[in-house]
Amino acid sequence: MSAVHRKTKQKEAILGVLKGTTSHPTADWIYEQVRCEIPNISLGTVYRNLRLLQREGVIMELDLAGTLSRFDANIHNHYHFRCEQCGRVFDLDEPVDKAMDDNVAQKTGFKVTHHRLEFRGLCIDCQRSDSPESLKKYLGLT
Ligand SMILES: [Zn+2]
Ligand SMILES: [Zn+2]
Repeated sequence: MSAVHRKTKQKEAILGVLKGTTSHPTADWIYEQVRCEIPNISLGTVYRNLRLLQREGVIMELDLAGTLSRFDANIHNHYHFRCEQCGRVFDLDEPVDKAMDDNVAQKTGFKVTHHRLEFRGLCIDCQRSDSPESLKKYLGLT
C-alpha cells in the first residue's frame, strides 16, 4: 500500500468513527476505536488527523473550558447539554436562535457569525444512579 493511500485510509477511519457516534468523544476514545480497524495506528496520528479534519471544516472541536477536547462530526450549529457528573455531551434538538445574533450585533456593533450554547446539569443516567450524597461529594460540598 502506498504512503498516500495509507494516510487516506487512516483519515477516513477516524472520520468514520466520529460520524458513527453522537457521544462527542475525546481523541483517546477515537484512538481506541480506530485501533480495531488499524491496529498499528498511533495516538499522534489520530491527533494530527483530527486537526486536519477540523481545518478542512469536516469536524468541529468543542472547546469546553478546562476539559479534554471533544470532537463532533455534526458541524451545523447546534446546542449541547453537558452532564456535570459524567462529563458526557449530548446534542440538543433545540432550534438555534438566530435572533440572538442580530440582537448582540445591534447592541455592540460586533459582526456576529454564530453563538455557542451549552446547558449544564445531570443526564438521565446520573440522575438515576446517584444518591444525593455522592453528588454532593462530586460537587465538593462535603
Ligand atoms: Zn451524566
Ligand atoms: Zn454536537
